[in-house]
Amino acid sequence: MSTTDRYQQLTQTPPGKFLRGRLGLPESTPLRRHEPGDPVLHGPALVGGAPGGRLAKPLATALRAASVKTIKSLDADDAQAAALIFDATGITRSEDLAALHDFFSPAIAAVQASGRLIVLGTPPERAAYRRQAVAQRALEGFTRSAAKELRHGATGQLVYVAPGAEGNLDGTLRFLLSGRSAYVSGQVIRIGAGASQAPGDWDRPLDGRVAAVTGASRGIGAAIAATLARDGAHVVGLDVPALEDDLKAVAAGIGGSALALDITDPDAPRAIAAHLKQEHRGVDVVVHNAGITRDRTLGRMDADRWNAVISVNLTAIERVTDALIAGGSRAVLNEGGRIVCVSSISGIAGNAGQTNYATSKAGVIGVVDAYAPALAERGATINAVAPGFIETQMTAKVPLPIREAGRRMSSLSQGGLPIDVAEAIAWFASPACGGLNGNVVRVCGQSLLGA
Ligand code: NAD
Repeated sequence: MSTTDRYQQLTQTPPGKFLRGRLGLPESTPLRRHEPGDPVLHGPALVGGAPGGRLAKPLATALRAASVKTIKSLDADDAQAAALIFDATGITRSEDLAALHDFFSPAIAAVQASGRLIVLGTPPERAAYRRQAVAQRALEGFTRSAAKELRHGATGQLVYVAPGAEGNLDGTLRFLLSGRSAYVSGQVIRIGAGASQAPGDWDRPLDGRVAAVTGASRGIGAAIAATLARDGAHVVGLDVPALEDDLKAVAAGIGGSALALDITDPDAPRAIAAHLKQEHRGVDVVVHNAGITRDRTLGRMDADRWNAVISVNLTAIERVTDALIAGGSRAVLNEGGRIVCVSSISGIAGNAGQTNYATSKAGVIGVVDAYAPALAERGATINAVAPGFIETQMTAKVPLPIREAGRRMSSLSQGGLPIDVAEAIAWFASPACGGLNGNVVRVCGQSLLGA
């Protein structure tokens, strides 16, 4: 997928590189994105850990299964590592945080372009005692800052692995190390002990599964539909009747099917549930992607703008989800189902002119928090992605100066692509990721907005 980022194209030429350096302008490196057949990593991972950590073995097993070569030290000054991975679960008091410095300080310059930095910890809320909780909480500031110091498209994340969830590393490690997570950086991910199933084929983890995607006729929704189909799912795309032709074209292109309806229609939840039950014997993956903006500052916002945004972006998600999980064992959402919502960094950081939109998108995070326990009871999960600046028809219409600011105000100094959001959704949708429940992960290149 191409980008219209002229700044990035220009600064990749020799004169552009020279000028960028002289003027101190931000670096914007084309990111490594996943291509079919790509290995998880294009080089070795340097692996270390604080003494007493509990993840060395499960980490080694997961990396071996993903065909990642590991090394314990950098043998030459100019050696490079495709990833630095550190098991920090052994850190039980603040004095021991020095282990982070000892491991990463000499190695950080060795990270390759589009390389990865990963810190593994214990969720502070699952710590055995107070000092351990404090030290584990501190990992967040370290990882977010180290990720901001990485260059050339490299990214960094903190993964909290709950005690008992050590066997659930695979799906998340593969996602974070690979080009699939190109535009995800500075994130904190929690892996719990939910039931996971390793797919027979990691390139087609959704084989035999049915996925419903709202707002699938264009933009991010079309990329989500294509990505889930690539991963083996039969995709049922949903969109408004006015876009039925576009929706049918997207569905035909990926061997899926189309259901044209307005998700705010009072009858929509029943109609969606009935369609999925009758045509597909239920649904395995539901992606609540449809969304609209109706921007105005609060004093100038009429009730119609407010109501339209809340009803599409938030109320419809609640109503459709309720219809899909009603009925206990006869629910339309199959056992082990995955629900993934699309929030926004506006819903985290707030944005002037978007009180309606940010309310709806913060509400989407509320949906994840509120539904996660009930879904866990039936072996299902709910998570959200919160995109930052993504290159779509919508953002192409934004005036150039604001568009440029949106792109450059991230640690990766560029906008993301719809595929970046879609890959994160495919990660949450994987049967291997039953341990991910209640997460909100930003796909924003570590935007300077929103923490
Ligand atoms: P888009 O406008 O290109 O696509 C949204 C789709 O949702 C459209 O096809 C639209 O017809 C559909 N839709 C809207 N109302 C509907 C309804 N009532 N019933 C059924 N379908 C409906 O937008 P996009 O940029 O692809 O955004 C997709 C999602 O990502 C949205 O939830 C948006 O808020 C979110 N998001 C986008 C960005 C970005 O930078 N583009 C950033 C953050 C979050």
